[in-house]
Amino acid sequence: MLQRIKHIINEGKRFLITTHIDPDGDAIGSVLSLYWAFESMNKMSLIYLRDPIPYRYNFLPGPSHTLHEFNDTAFDGIFVLDCGDLSRIGDGYESLRDRGTIINIDHHNTNESFGSLNLVDETASSTAEILYRLYTSLNIAFTLNISINLYTAIFTDTGSFRYENTNAHAFHICEEMIHKGVNPSYVSRMVHENHPKERFILLGLVLATLETYFKDRIAVACVTNDMFRQTGTTREHTDGFVEYLREIKGVEVAILVREISSTRYKISMRSKGMVDVASVCNLFGGGGHKNAAGCYIDGNLYEVKQKLKGAFNIQ
Ligand code: 5GP
Ligand code: MN
Repeated sequence: MLQRIKHIINEGKRFLITTHIDPDGDAIGSVLSLYWAFESMNKMSLIYLRDPIPYRYNFLPGPSHTLHEFNDTAFDGIFVLDCGDLSRIGDGYESLRDRGTIINIDHHNTNESFGSLNLVDETASSTAEILYRLYTSLNIAFTLNISINLYTAIFTDTGSFRYENTNAHAFHICEEMIHKGVNPSYVSRMVHENHPKERFILLGLVLATLETYFKDRIAVACVTNDMFRQTGTTREHTDGFVEYLREIKGVEVAILVREISSTRYKISMRSKGMVDVASVCNLFGGGGHKNAAGCYIDGNLYEVKQKLKGAFNIQ
């Protein structure tokens, strides 16, 4: 597979790079690293992102301009990164197949192999780890622009080297990126200590909704559109909230329920230990990893919580 992808890269001139909606650090870092990899090979690439780059990743080097809607051009390859299913790219994803060969590079075990070429390794800590292997086999030099994006992608997707997907490769690659000039405390500060004050006012409101089920084994908190209005915040300010709930003693599954509308909610689930939240989210048409997954559930807030409770087989 790696050879076939290398062939497409070597033969092509013009590429599109994209990732999922509500992009996280692995999505953004992977996309930007690939942009710089193409740049170093004198290949042209464009980035399509449905959503703007979240503020906590604005420090990452990237192009001055990204596409927020598709135009009619065709590409020699379309790289879809960190994306379990094609529809997660957002509106217009159906037309992508007509614009070029889709190369799907990902580490979600729920990945639907939607590409013409699929480089999917669910044992990889992150999509960035798979890209590192690709760049190495293409003999691409790890410039600071590539290195800081890869480092940040791995650092964020492993929850700062705390989650179950943290592996020796993650440390090995990050060590190499430090040798290339990445400053770990700078990245950590940008990612974790650079929030606007409003995010903490929102966090206070969200934590006040905390409920636990099944003797504290499941923790649920909610964020509503009213809270966003009240605090002048948006979805991106909730990044990381669900991780706080994991910190509660005895909690096995942490859930953040975010209002999309009064009859539709976005669910973010994290587990520590054995519960496979990807399969729980799969019941609702979503997906992700064993320890971090998401889905959408229709209903009012009460109904959504009941559906969630019912999805866990815990006495
Ligand atoms: P988050 O809770 O941060 O949105 O997502 C956690 C993980 O689950 C990420 O790896 C993300 O890509 C995946 N994920 C979140 N929502 C969905 C969804 O609706 N469908 C699928 N297939 N994956 C999702
Ligand atoms: Mn990822």
